[in-house]
Amino acid sequence: MSDEHLAPGAAIAAPADHAQPAQPAVGLPLWLLAEVTYRCPLQCPYCSNPLDFARQGEELSTEQWIRVMTEARQMGAAQIGFSGGEPLVRKDLAQLIAEARKLGYYTNLITSGIGLNEQKLADFQRAGLDHIQISFQSSDEEVNNMLAGSGKAFAQKLAMARAVKAHGYPMVLNFVTHRYNIDDIDRIIELCIALEADFVELATTQFYGWAKLNRALLLPTREQLERAERITNEYRAKLEASGNPCKLIFVTPDYYEERPKPCMGGWGSLFLTVTPDGTALPCHGARMLPVEFPNVRDHDLRHIWYESFGFNRFRGNAWMPEPCRSCDEKEKDFGGCRCQAFMLTGDAANTDPVCGKSPEHRIIVQARSEAAQPVQPIQRLIFRNDRNSRELSQP
Ligand code: SF4
Ligand code: SF4
Repeated sequence: MSDEHLAPGAAIAAPADHAQPAQPAVGLPLWLLAEVTYRCPLQCPYCSNPLDFARQGEELSTEQWIRVMTEARQMGAAQIGFSGGEPLVRKDLAQLIAEARKLGYYTNLITSGIGLNEQKLADFQRAGLDHIQISFQSSDEEVNNMLAGSGKAFAQKLAMARAVKAHGYPMVLNFVTHRYNIDDIDRIIELCIALEADFVELATTQFYGWAKLNRALLLPTREQLERAERITNEYRAKLEASGNPCKLIFVTPDYYEERPKPCMGGWGSLFLTVTPDGTALPCHGARMLPVEFPNVRDHDLRHIWYESFGFNRFRGNAWMPEPCRSCDEKEKDFGGCRCQAFMLTGDAANTDPVCGKSPEHRIIVQARSEAAQPVQPIQRLIFRNDRNSRELSQP
């Protein structure tokens, strides 16, 4: 990652009529997540896409995405992640990457690897792509393919991870962990080392979107998590001792914490997500909230970031009820995650129930006890596909 691509807005002069932000105290949208499509050939039962993704509106055009990227860059955005769905299904992806790079972004492709090939890797390299993240479902081929819903997924991912390294990209391998794969953590890490990953993200499922729907089957036990973290730490020590630069990132799930994470570094303070149909969100899960969010088809990003109701709804701490309002930790965690508060308590303004001080913390304690149930067959999971999406979101 080179600094020249990270300097917020340095290379681009803001248009004269936009020279001063309306509210200078608000942070800059440094990170733009471009969810360019909800289309995806896979069906992960923990996908963070909305349950009703199949009923969402038309995707933004190439020109509309270029306008979004330009406006965000003018406002200081330094990194862009091309995500989805599966971003590779967009035929204009190489063009979007090239435009983003021209604008001075550090560019990340977040992909399942399905649809990638040597030709596309060469095109992306010419376009200036900086970084690729490939996700796997498991280190076990059969489990991987069952979770992904494709008999060829694992072999394709292996081939593409090797090709990504052969093209000289920095590579992140991402494994979402849960009850169906967490006990294989040593095999997962061994696979990542063999594939020469630069970073390995071992991210325990966070329960939004489809993962929330399948939570009772996916949430691991505390013992499983502790074992996985211990093994990860042992590998970290081994890698360091042997001079291997591979870095292991272990993300614990909120459900075993007593304090929530500082979600998105604070509402509307750093992250800007634009969904396939142009809805702008302060985080990729926020679409579920009963809050009106603006669309880039109707407003420019400066208005959206500084002026819109959606982006101001949970900024700062004036909106907080007790116990957050008088809590001396509110500057540290911002009261936790608004989506989690909404999903679990029905009110997005409540304290995140992950917090031990929340009057609703028993919901989390109850969910932990569900994890003690025997593991169920994979087929019992509800998979993320068009049919299920349409059924679950019937008007
Ligand atoms: S999590 Fe799985 S189903 Fe969802 S977009 Fe990514 S690869 Fe597709
Ligand atoms: S009460 Fe609110 S601010 Fe205090 S620790 Fe819990 S979530 Fe954070």
